[in-house]
Amino acid sequence: MRLIFIGPPGVGKGTQAKFLVEQFSIPQISTGDMLREHVRNQTELGIEAKTCMDAGKLVPDSVILEMIKSRFTEDDCQHGYILDGFPRTIPQAEGLDFILEGLNQKLDSVVVLEVADSIIIHRLSSRRSCRGCGRVYNLLFDPPQTAGKCNECNEELYLRDDDNPDIIQQRLSVYHEQTAPVIEHYAQQNLTKSIEAAGSIEDIKSTVMAALS
Ligand code: AMP
Repeated sequence: MRLIFIGPPGVGKGTQAKFLVEQFSIPQISTGDMLREHVRNQTELGIEAKTCMDAGKLVPDSVILEMIKSRFTEDDCQHGYILDGFPRTIPQAEGLDFILEGLNQKLDSVVVLEVADSIIIHRLSSRRSCRGCGRVYNLLFDPPQTAGKCNECNEELYLRDDDNPDIIQQRLSVYHEQTAPVIEHYAQQNLTKSIEAAGSIEDIKSTVMAALS
């Protein structure tokens, strides 16, 4: 199963993708998580990417496509994957088409999660991430058991630099300008499944599962 999750930042792509990882035993490939790991490890790529990320802008397409190409060669991708946060521009979608053609692989579906910008702003400012394992919480509907601490590893929870209100607005503009056209790219290939993602995590999970069955 080869899937793409598209949607604005904070719509719940990562949360929903994680359910499918268990269901289909395929990895979730999040370019945002990969970049944050580079930033944590202070690699050359991480140092370069951090400026774009902190400003709510996109990292150059060529950097992202190289990262994905190399990730696809790993063993766990051989039976499929869920792409979360990629492709985010038309050149990335075209680059992915080219990579897949070379591997003789086809996508199964593109899940499009949709929600109003006002809900996104509310959700993202309540999002907290773990400094240790990267697990994501939401203080409104998925809080940790102990305030400020991760349930899994007890490390500190923090508000991502790019989850502050000014940067959220910038990320939403980037989404509408550069990522929304990617939906049309896949609609033309009859691959898109649109899901209204304003409800509870469990309700959205059921709708996603039903759309893919
Ligand atoms: P995310 O965790 O997916 O919201 O990504 C956080 C940030 O990483 C984004 O705001 C971008 O700066 C960068 N990023 C993640 N994925 C991509 C991508 N596919 N193309 C360009 N930049 C990306």
